[in-house]
Amino acid sequence: MPSHVKHTNGPGETEAAGAELAGRLTPGDVVLVSGELGSGKTTFVRGACRALGVEGPVTSPTFTIGQVLGDSPEIAHLDLYRLGSLAGEDPALLEDYLTPDRVGFIEWPAAAEPELERVAARVTLEHEGGDRRRITVA
Ligand code: ADP
Ligand code: MG
Repeated sequence: MPSHVKHTNGPGETEAAGAELAGRLTPGDVVLVSGELGSGKTTFVRGACRALGVEGPVTSPTFTIGQVLGDSPEIAHLDLYRLGSLAGEDPALLEDYLTPDRVGFIEWPAAAEPELERVAARVTLEHEGGDRRRITVA
């Protein structure tokens, strides 16, 4: 996927960017979503999930590393902020969520990245002051 940069001026525009990417995804794809706290990772994933048919709330999982949303396709939404490292974890931890028939989104993906075989896109969000964000999709 060629690298693509855009600037958004509010959460709605970031959701729209997520929706645009979602249109290019197929089951088995995994999208890595990086950026500081509050940069809009979950907002981006929410827009993608809406475009993929998820109707309920899309928030970062709190008590687990991930959650499964929607159906046809199911969406695996992971947030590895608290995980630190996969060392010492069950090797099946990621596979339990990231199955070939799901589209996956991973916030704070650093720990998982070495394990992943099929990364469809890498999304990076950066604060640009106020409600402005810079989004790179590569
Ligand atoms: P993260 O998952 O990266 O911690 P969230 O998506 O949970 O970030 O939160 C982003 C916060 O910033 C939300 O409160 C959202 O309303 C706000 N916000 C303001 N402007 C934008 C923008 N351009 N894109 C995304 N979020 C924005
Ligand atoms: Mg988040």
